[in-house]
Order: sequence, then structure tokens, then C-alpha cells
Amino acid sequence: MKELRSQKICSEKILAAIAKVPRHFFLDSTFEQFAYTNKAFPIPAGQTISQPQTVAQQSELLNCSPGDKVLEIGTGSGYQCAVLCELGMKVYSIERQKELHNMAVSLLAEMGYEPTLYYGDGYKGKEVFAPYKGIIVTCGAPEAPSSLLGQLTIGGRLVIPVGDSGDGKKQRMLTYDRISETEFTKQDHGSAAFVPMLVSKSRG
Ligand code: SAH
Repeated sequence: MKELRSQKICSEKILAAIAKVPRHFFLDSTFEQFAYTNKAFPIPAGQTISQPQTVAQQSELLNCSPGDKVLEIGTGSGYQCAVLCELGMKVYSIERQKELHNMAVSLLAEMGYEPTLYYGDGYKGKEVFAPYKGIIVTCGAPEAPSSLLGQLTIGGRLVIPVGDSGDGKKQRMLTYDRISETEFTKQDHGSAAFVPMLVSKSRG
């Protein structure tokens, strides 16, 4: 926590939310003793739980307030989702690995969080509940999907690591602010390292 505070990448409000979410619940017991170190760890299905610094940075960049509707792509362990719930946001989250989706459904309910979780392909977003004030992608996408940009409210923001780790290019943490029906402004917030965003299993 001291390390996060010293990096000044996020507000006290976000540090307080991170402090409230017991990260060891989201890790395999093998890694439990390291739960509060600033590292990413493997979770089932070959995926990773983001490091607290990344969760802090993305939560800050999302720039949302309590009550705002936000969509997360890549529920994974459910850790980032829990932090957003702790911040008082109304959270929808999509995961394409059934095993991880099922684990997050039971764990987050047990912990008393009430996000709406879906098993499916995050590329499509979740049109039925759009528009969102914020959309946070927690896997590395080749580009910002137009379907997600289209589900932002005007004044809303997409936070997305772009650059497939597979193509040798470095990922960048980008934000896209929707300033009108058709216009977006893009900002680069530095390098990023996420597992790749994959296409839906049903599409191969
Ligand atoms: N937010 C997570 C990070 C998990 S890693 C956490 O806090 O633990 C990224 C996750 O994105 C993985 O679980 C992976 O299965 C998922 N993912 C990859 N491509 C996806 C897609 N197209 N749609 C939804 N989820 C996807």
C-alpha cells in the first residue's frame, strides 16, 4: 500500500478501496503469502490476476464516480471487479473462460459484492445495458473495438491496453474519451503488459 501511495498513480479514494478488498481471496493458496505484494499471479485457465499497481492505475483512469455504470472486459479472478464495486460503481463484467466466470460468480457473491457477471465475448460488449460511463478492458487488445467505443455515453471513457503481446509490439495503456456521437480523443498513459484479449471460443 505504501508502495502504491508513493507512486502517486491514484487517489486516496482508490487506495482506500484497494485496501478494503482482501486480495488473498482471489489467489490460489500457493500464492496466498504473496497476496499483498505488488505482483501479478497466475489464476486458472492460464490467466493472471493483475498487479495492484495496474488495478490502481486503471481504476484511476476510468475516472468514474459512485453510481456510475461501468463495464469490465475480462473478469478473471474478479479482483478488479471487486475494487470497482468497492468504489460504489454499478459493475457489469464479461469473461470468456467459463471456469473463471463460475469462480468469480461464487466468490464475489460470497464476499457480498453485487456485480452483474456474464460468460461471453467481451469484444461485443453488452449492448443491452449500454451506454456506460466507463469501460475497462483488462486484457491486451489489438485495437480499441468499435463495438466498445459505441457503448460509451458521451463524456464516457474506455480504458484499454492496446497492442497484442503476440505481435512483438509493446502494449500501451490508452484511454478514449467520447466527446460526441462520432468523435473520440485518445491519450497514451504509458506501457502495459496484459494477457491477450482473445476472440470468442464459439468463433474459434
Ligand atoms: N480483471 C482481472 C484480470 C484477468 S486477466 C483480474 O482482476 O483478475 C484478463 C482476463 O481477460 C482473462 O481472465 C481472460 O480470460 C479474459 N479475456 C480474454 N479475452 C477476452 C474476451 N474476448 N472477452 C472476455 N474476456 C476475455
